[in-house]
Amino acid sequence: MRVLLVGGGGREHALALGLAADPAVSQLIAAPGNPGIAAVAELRAVDANDPAAVAALAVETGVDLVVIGPEAPLVAGVADAVRAKGIAVFGPSAEAARLEGSKTFAKDVMTAAGVPTARAHTCTDPESTGRALDEFGAPYVVKNDGLAAGKGVVVTDDRAAALRHAQECGRVVVEEYLAGPEVSLFVVTDGEAAVPLLPAQDFKRIGDGDTGPNTGGMGAYAPLPWAPPGLVDEVMRDVVHPTLAELRRRGAPFAGLLYVGLAMTAAGPRVIEFNARFGDPETQVVLALLETPLAGLLHAAATGTLAAHPPLRWRDGAAVTVVLASAGYPGTPRTGDVITGGDRPGIIHAGTARRADDGALLSAGGRVLCGTATGPDLAAARDAAYALVGGVELAGAQYRTDIAAAAVEGRIRIPG
Ligand code: AMP
Repeated sequence: MRVLLVGGGGREHALALGLAADPAVSQLIAAPGNPGIAAVAELRAVDANDPAAVAALAVETGVDLVVIGPEAPLVAGVADAVRAKGIAVFGPSAEAARLEGSKTFAKDVMTAAGVPTARAHTCTDPESTGRALDEFGAPYVVKNDGLAAGKGVVVTDDRAAALRHAQECGRVVVEEYLAGPEVSLFVVTDGEAAVPLLPAQDFKRIGDGDTGPNTGGMGAYAPLPWAPPGLVDEVMRDVVHPTLAELRRRGAPFAGLLYVGLAMTAAGPRVIEFNARFGDPETQVVLALLETPLAGLLHAAATGTLAAHPPLRWRDGAAVTVVLASAGYPGTPRTGDVITGGDRPGIIHAGTARRADDGALLSAGGRVLCGTATGPDLAAARDAAYALVGGVELAGAQYRTDIAAAAVEGRIRIPG
């Protein structure tokens, strides 16, 4: 199987490692890829968000499967353009990707499908925003209605700050605060059949102890030792299948990766958000534990044959990933600094570049790389991931020191 992978962040590096390890994959091409992906794929400098350019590359390279990593190409219609050429693509249509591209659309679908989620109002002016904030009370949750790379959400006790964020965004969804630990559940689907991967947890805030602003994600681990035994079945029954059915009913079947972000509240699991693609950095830990060949699984979802795919096999043990971010992130990141120790197994590249003259590895984004490790248990995986990150040097870099710590120490409690 010849595979084209679209994107160039940490999630795509993790996907590239999984695809390259599948014995069925004879050639892997990545567009645009990154210096880490370059070790396992041929890179092509194509704009990932340009539907015509990606479709033309898929035709030119004669691939059997296109895997789209990030959300922006999906929302831009890259999957539709590739499918129109008769090539199998893992990733939903632009219409179905609105589940991530518009918080209002997602709320609409959830309401129609009876999916448990936070009560919410869409607001476009200060008056209606103020009314919604007062209806739900503090802590206030204000979400940019459109794509914001995981950074469009403000959760604060400061009403003025909540109003300011709403004004900066224009159109927002104001919603009820959901208290409880978060779970990320990835579901591979062809629109009808759906296969859950292992639940994971990520860390959105920049600082230890969940302090500071939201980021794209500062670390993750899987599986979740504290998750109730029936959680995945319950979410498949109450969230995933009703949502997929509602999208089929609307003529926009969702085929690809449905990411369910949940809060484990006293009243049960509640959906915080849907995404239309693998989460970053949870992909790094989930795929590190997946034993089933990845390309075959994604190809089955892309070709409507997922119901016939054999059950997934998982490695024993646990996986942890720790993100190393540039100084300044999640504000304006400092870039162009030399990284040492970044070319080792287990180091996943996210925002890196090669210097043209000497090939030195440079920081080129907010989240620069992550150290991903597995181990016989969560504590061992955590130690190994921190050892990896500790071996990297980058001036001014920041990383959290408490990724997976509460889970290792048995400190995570579901309220109620
Ligand atoms: P989202 O982009 O919707 O995933 O939001 C980013 C992060 O904000 C989530 O991972 C949560 O940590 C937090 N968040 C979003 N919505 C809520 C909510 N209704 N209640 C509590 N926290 C939330």
